[in-house]
Order: sequence, then structure tokens, then C-alpha cells
Amino acid sequence: MEKIKRNILLNPGPATTTDSVKYAQVVPDICPREEEFASIMRTLRKDLLKVVHASADKYTSVLFCGSGTINIDICLNSLLPANKKVLIVNNGAYSSRAVEVCEYYGLPHINLKFDVDKLPDLELVEKTLKENSDIALVYTTHNETGTGILNPVKEIGALAHKYNAAFIVDTTSTLGMRPIDIEEDNIDFCMASAQKGLMAMAGLSFIIGNKEIIEKSKDYPKRSYYCNLYLQYEYFEKTGEMHFTPPVQTVYAAVQALKEYFEEGETAKWQRHLRTFEAIHKGLAELGFKNVIKREWQAGLVVSAIYPDDKNWDFKKIHDYCYERGFTIYPGKISTTNTFRLCSLGTIDVRDIEDFFVVFRQALEHYQVAIPVIYK
Ligand SMILES: *Cc1c(COP(=O)(O)O)cnc(C)c1O
Repeated sequence: MEKIKRNILLNPGPATTTDSVKYAQVVPDICPREEEFASIMRTLRKDLLKVVHASADKYTSVLFCGSGTINIDICLNSLLPANKKVLIVNNGAYSSRAVEVCEYYGLPHINLKFDVDKLPDLELVEKTLKENSDIALVYTTHNETGTGILNPVKEIGALAHKYNAAFIVDTTSTLGMRPIDIEEDNIDFCMASAQKGLMAMAGLSFIIGNKEIIEKSKDYPKRSYYCNLYLQYEYFEKTGEMHFTPPVQTVYAAVQALKEYFEEGETAKWQRHLRTFEAIHKGLAELGFKNVIKREWQAGLVVSAIYPDDKNWDFKKIHDYCYERGFTIYPGKISTTNTFRLCSLGTIDVRDIEDFFVVFRQALEHYQVAIPVIYK
């Protein structure tokens, strides 16, 4: 195998991958309707359950062809019974995306908004549930990737269940990195796409959720033809296949990535992401950058830094300087503050971050940005 140029992606996914995952896509052509391919997907579905410690009796995983947002769309449009409401516990850009999905489908919903740099107020969540007995779904985001804040999903899930609602969590930027135990964390549905925590390729997404609820949703209003959870689940159960053409080569990459995931191990992998995250903090602190989110609230995967008040600071120029040298940095996702993000996703480690900060410092010096950086 020829070595492929290794880029260090510090954006919040797609992540840096191994060459073995990249090469896993180079396989003989196969019709995905062959039993050989169905059998690969059956194993893949089972292995995904193991990542969140979900028992196969109670939970199932359903694969889709699409980027991670397809999961948000599918969960919301498929799992809401008629005449019921969704409660979105919203403190960031990804939960706001769920609100937009509700708006597009015309789903009755409550957008319970909190500041993007604060944790949601659980008393207010409970009060809302108490006052609205027609809430059937509670929705939130585990790690709000736009800022890096970690939401208390276990506590929100407990409240959802206390008021007989199902709990959906967007775990796209934690699954396969920060350990999740679906049952213990009070989650009924979680989700991710292959290009994030699993360090595979974009194009394959999956929902892991409670089988009984999916089976019940058979009788819920059908709001989408392509993106319906029950229909895809039923087709998988009957035939072992996706209803429509799967992303064939991407599936092979995901299978290889999962093999590498189990070889590295849940704990070791999380420790690696965590020390990479610490190295990012160390590098930023040495240059004087400030964080958006309180350190103890961060999920350990995304660092949001505030732009310095320096007339020579130009994110685009700094980005381009780093990009040309193999390091990708990423803008923030907060409308009110100018921020950029550095993330510890992917097959990267402390050494890569140290290499990055050599280049990043050079970029600041090159454009005459003061070090340590200045804030007014
Ligand atoms: C990346 C991400 C998604 C999915 O984004 P796509 O661009 O559709 O892949 C959804 N939710 C969260 C929290 C994410 O980090």
C-alpha cells in the first residue's frame, strides 16, 4: 500500500483517517443486493450497537445513505405521533437545526432556548414537560459541536421518561469518542455519521434506538418517503439490505474503521482524544487565546477560541497558511461572537497538535499578530 499524504484535520469532522480505512474502499465491484453484502451490513449493524453498549434485544441500528443531518431529519419526522409535540432543549447550532427540521415538516414543537455558552436549566425543562402533557419527544444535542459544550443528557433523559416522552440525542460528535451507554444514559435514540467518531468516510449515517418505539412508529404519520425510520428498519429486518442503494464503498470503510475502533478500545481511544484536547488547550493558552465555554463544561473534543482584538488577525489568512502546510482549522458557529475551533477528532495525537502549533505560531508571526494575543 502506498502511503497517502496525511493531513491533520482539526475541523469537527470529517476526521483524519488511517490509510487502512481509506484503502478499505478499494474492493472488487459488487452488487449490494448480493447476500455477501447484506451479511457485511448485518455485522456492521450489530457492531454499532456495541459501541454504545446497546443490547440487541432492546435496541437496533438502522443505516442510511447521507450525511449526519439525515439522522436528525429522520428521527424527528418519523417518531412523532399524531397530535403530539417535540420539546427541543436548545443551546446551540445543532439543536437549532432540529428546530428547523420541525419547521420544515410543520411539526408542533417547543423551542426551549438557552444561551449557547450555558448549560440548559433543568428546572425549566421539567416545568415545560409538566405544563405540556402532549410532549411525546424530547430532543437535544450531546456535544454542541458549534461551541464544544457537553449537555447533561442523562438528566434530561430522566426527565423525559418521568413525563412519558421518548428521548432523542444527537450524539454525532461524541459517539465512538466519549463513551456512551445508551441505557444508563437514558437515551432512546442516538445517532452519528461514519466520518466523525468512527474515523471512517462521509456518506453513511446511522441511528441506534429502541426497537419497541420504532415498531410503534409504524402507525405514526408518514411525513417523508425516503427518510422514514420504520420503513428502513423494516426493510433491513426483512432483507438485510437498505431500501435503496447503499453507499457501497463507504460501508467497507466503516467496517474497517470499526475493526480498528475495537482494536484501539473504547477507553484508550477516549484517553487519546482527551490528551489531544488537553494539548490543544495548552497550545492555545501559551499564545494567550481565550475560550468561549467554561473549561469544566467542555465535552473534551472541541475547543472554541475567541478571535483576538488585533487588526492583523485575519482568520482566512491564518487558515490558508496552516492549510497549505497540512493543517485544517475551522471557523466557529456562534452568531454573536467571532470564534474558531480546534477539535480532537480523528486519528490524531498530541504530537500532531505540537506540530500544528509550530505552524500556527509561524502564521501569527508571519501576519504580525501580537503574541500573546490581545483582548480589549
Ligand atoms: C457533524 C454533526 C452533524 C451532521 O452534520 P453533517 O454535515 O450533516 O454530516 C449533526 N450533529 C452534530 C452535533 C454534528 O457535530
